[in-house]
Amino acid sequence: MEVSINNIRKEFDRFAALNDVSLKIASGELIALLGPSGSGKTTLLRLIAGLDFPTEGQIFFGAEDASHHSVQDRNVGFVFQHYALFRHMTVAENIGFGLKVRPSASRPSKTEIRKRVSDLLDMVQLSGLEKRYPNQLSGGQRQRVALARAMAIEPRILLLDEPFGALDAKVRKELRRWLREFHDRTGHTTVFVTHDQEEALELADRVVVMSQGKIEQVGSADDVYDRPGSPFVFSFIGESSHLPVEVKDGTVLFQGEPIGVSGEANSSGDLYFRPEDVELTQERDALFGKVTASRRLAGTRIAEIDISNPGGSNDHQPFHVEIEVPLHAPIELGSEARFRPTRWKIFGR
Ligand code: ADP
Ligand code: MG
Repeated sequence: MEVSINNIRKEFDRFAALNDVSLKIASGELIALLGPSGSGKTTLLRLIAGLDFPTEGQIFFGAEDASHHSVQDRNVGFVFQHYALFRHMTVAENIGFGLKVRPSASRPSKTEIRKRVSDLLDMVQLSGLEKRYPNQLSGGQRQRVALARAMAIEPRILLLDEPFGALDAKVRKELRRWLREFHDRTGHTTVFVTHDQEEALELADRVVVMSQGKIEQVGSADDVYDRPGSPFVFSFIGESSHLPVEVKDGTVLFQGEPIGVSGEANSSGDLYFRPEDVELTQERDALFGKVTASRRLAGTRIAEIDISNPGGSNDHQPFHVEIEVPLHAPIELGSEARFRPTRWKIFGR
């Protein structure tokens, strides 16, 4: 089911939680809404679900304007972070619940419900656990039951709001891979909300980066990581540093000196780069500063560098940047590091 979100605005007492949001979700696509807390992810998901309605704009399911259709009429499935399964119902009863409460005209027979529950249990790889109660399951199993329950009504779209947020890191990673495979098997149009960039980058066909009620960028994981379209996206996804620069005749100047980086138009702006996109150098035209700290991450080491700021603010605060250095030949604390960004982007001011 293709979903078109057209110029949506959502106000709560005049506060715009969403402002001119437009997005086309292709049929069968797995989309991640990624953004910091308060950026409007849940609000957008609730509007798609029909749990709330837009102040302005429309939401189309295929050719049908669903903007003001109730949640029952939209036939969507959703799973939330703290999705409470019914504690007094078994796994099978939980999954079958949405079918059992249908009006009699569209309610499947008991045998049909039992068959469907058993297929769904197969699908989420929990066969054999139908008689268990939620408190006899692990957190990861519970979220898979919640997913099966959302799927039971044969939804047109699956909406997941930080479904793995309450689980520990290892289980979350397993479920992430599992969900990707599950999606590839079942092919449901799925919108997945997360504030975890790794989860979004690994899982989604396309990532929608949100900030303050607006969409900042939509693209593949490679697009948003390698070609961030705004300072916000550059900083929010992955690690990055930035310095104020000027561009003169194709040369980028920091504090009036060339740093071995080229630029396009004559302008001033901020030079953004990632720690992994620098090389240590002995060249004259380079950035340099004092190594103030270094820390090991899983497979790499990051050095923190203070670049002095003689022309800067009154208190002469140094600029602080982070660069990746060889893991087994780390540069010494207190020594000077010279380096040059090898990939960068300048955002004009
Ligand atoms: P996210 O899911 O990205 O953390 P939300 O969509 O929950 O963000 O919230 C976006 C903004 O809208 C926040 O500033 C939040 O306080 C506000 N908001 C959300 N729901 C309501 C509501 N029912 N009433 C008033 N403000 C709300
Ligand atoms: Mg939320």
